Amino acid sequence: MHPDRHEPITCTVCHRAIRERDDLVTTMVMLRVLPFHDRCYHRELEHLQAMSVSSQPINGWFGNLTAVLFLVLGLALLLVAVPLGEWRWWLSPLFTLPLALRMYSYLTIERLIRS
Ligand SMILES: [Zn+2]
Repeated sequence: MHPDRHEPITCTVCHRAIRERDDLVTTMVMLRVLPFHDRCYHRELEHLQAMSVSSQPINGWFGNLTAVLFLVLGLALLLVAVPLGEWRWWLSPLFTLPLALRMYSYLTIERLIRS
Protein backbone atom coordinates (compact mmCIF):
# COMPACT_ATOMS: atom_id res chain seq x y z
CA MET A 1 0.00 0.00 0.00
CA HIS A 2 1.25 3.48 -0.81
CA PRO A 3 1.79 5.56 2.34
CA ASP A 4 -0.55 8.29 1.11
CA ARG A 5 -3.54 6.11 0.22
CA HIS A 6 -4.88 4.79 3.45
CA GLU A 7 -6.24 5.96 6.77
CA PRO A 8 -3.46 7.66 8.71
CA ILE A 9 -1.89 5.79 11.59
CA THR A 10 -3.04 7.59 14.72
CA CYS A 11 -1.36 7.92 18.09
CA THR A 12 -2.79 5.80 20.90
CA VAL A 13 -2.52 8.70 23.37
CA CYS A 14 -3.65 11.85 21.51
CA HIS A 15 -5.45 10.22 18.54
CA ARG A 16 -3.76 12.54 16.05
CA ALA A 17 -2.11 11.24 12.89
CA ILE A 18 1.53 10.24 13.00
CA ARG A 19 3.11 11.73 9.87
CA GLU A 20 6.78 10.91 10.14
CA ARG A 21 8.45 7.63 10.90
CA ASP A 22 11.01 9.51 13.00
CA ASP A 23 8.13 10.59 15.22
CA LEU A 24 6.82 7.05 15.68
CA VAL A 25 7.34 4.70 18.60
CA THR A 26 5.64 1.30 18.61
CA THR A 27 5.40 -0.77 21.74
CA MET A 28 3.43 -3.71 23.05
CA VAL A 29 0.66 -2.95 25.51
CA MET A 30 -1.66 -5.71 26.70
CA LEU A 31 -0.40 -8.02 23.96
CA ARG A 32 -1.14 -5.51 21.23
CA VAL A 33 1.41 -3.54 19.22
CA LEU A 34 0.35 0.11 19.39
CA PRO A 35 1.64 3.29 17.70
CA PHE A 36 2.59 6.46 19.59
CA HIS A 37 4.12 9.85 18.86
CA ASP A 38 7.62 9.95 20.26
CA ARG A 39 6.56 12.74 22.61
CA CYS A 40 3.34 11.00 23.73
CA TYR A 41 5.21 7.74 24.35
CA HIS A 42 7.69 9.42 26.64
CA ARG A 43 4.99 11.38 28.43
CA GLU A 44 2.94 8.22 29.06
CA LEU A 45 5.85 5.88 29.67
CA GLU A 46 5.17 5.42 33.37
CA HIS A 47 1.53 4.65 32.75
CA LEU A 48 2.44 2.22 29.94
CA GLN A 49 4.95 0.41 32.08
CA ALA A 50 2.23 -0.24 34.62
CA MET A 51 0.13 -1.97 31.95
CA SER A 52 2.69 -4.17 30.28
CA VAL A 53 5.63 -6.39 31.04
CA SER A 54 7.92 -4.53 28.69
CA SER A 55 7.13 -1.17 27.19
CA GLN A 56 10.44 -0.82 25.42
CA PRO A 57 10.07 0.51 21.88
CA ILE A 58 9.75 -2.20 19.22
CA ASN A 59 10.77 0.04 16.35
CA GLY A 60 13.97 2.00 15.81
CA TRP A 61 17.52 1.01 16.65
CA PHE A 62 16.57 -0.43 20.04
CA GLY A 63 14.05 -2.83 18.52
CA ASN A 64 16.47 -3.84 15.76
CA LEU A 65 19.22 -4.47 18.28
CA THR A 66 16.94 -6.56 20.50
CA ALA A 67 15.70 -8.65 17.57
CA VAL A 68 19.23 -9.37 16.33
CA LEU A 69 20.56 -10.06 19.81
CA PHE A 70 17.84 -12.57 20.57
CA LEU A 71 18.32 -14.26 17.21
CA VAL A 72 22.03 -14.70 17.93
CA LEU A 73 21.26 -16.00 21.43
CA GLY A 74 18.73 -18.46 20.03
CA LEU A 75 21.24 -19.78 17.50
CA ALA A 76 23.97 -19.96 20.12
CA LEU A 77 21.64 -21.93 22.36
CA LEU A 78 20.94 -24.37 19.57
CA LEU A 79 24.63 -24.87 18.82
CA VAL A 80 26.19 -24.66 22.27
CA ALA A 81 23.64 -25.91 24.79
CA VAL A 82 24.02 -29.55 23.82
CA PRO A 83 23.68 -30.69 27.47
CA LEU A 84 20.08 -29.47 27.36
CA GLY A 85 19.44 -32.25 24.88
CA GLU A 86 16.32 -31.94 22.76
CA TRP A 87 14.98 -29.22 25.06
CA ARG A 88 17.02 -26.71 23.14
CA TRP A 89 14.98 -27.40 20.01
CA TRP A 90 11.95 -26.18 21.94
CA LEU A 91 13.64 -23.22 23.62
CA SER A 92 15.54 -21.88 20.67
CA PRO A 93 12.51 -20.83 18.56
CA LEU A 94 11.30 -18.66 21.46
CA PHE A 95 14.25 -16.40 20.76
CA THR A 96 12.77 -15.46 17.41
CA LEU A 97 9.78 -13.79 19.12
CA PRO A 98 11.33 -10.29 19.25
CA LEU A 99 12.06 -10.56 15.53
CA ALA A 100 8.50 -11.65 14.82
CA LEU A 101 7.24 -8.70 16.86
CA ARG A 102 9.62 -6.38 15.04
CA MET A 103 8.32 -7.58 11.66
CA TYR A 104 4.72 -7.32 12.79
CA SER A 105 5.28 -3.73 13.90
CA TYR A 106 6.91 -2.92 10.58
CA LEU A 107 4.26 -4.54 8.41
CA THR A 108 1.20 -3.22 10.24
CA ILE A 109 2.36 0.25 11.28
CA GLU A 110 5.78 1.54 10.21
CA ARG A 111 5.39 0.61 6.55
CA LEU A 112 2.33 2.88 6.36
CA ILE A 113 4.17 5.96 7.58
CA ARG A 114 6.54 7.95 5.43
CA SER A 115 10.14 7.74 6.57
ZN1 LIG B 1 0.29 11.53 20.21
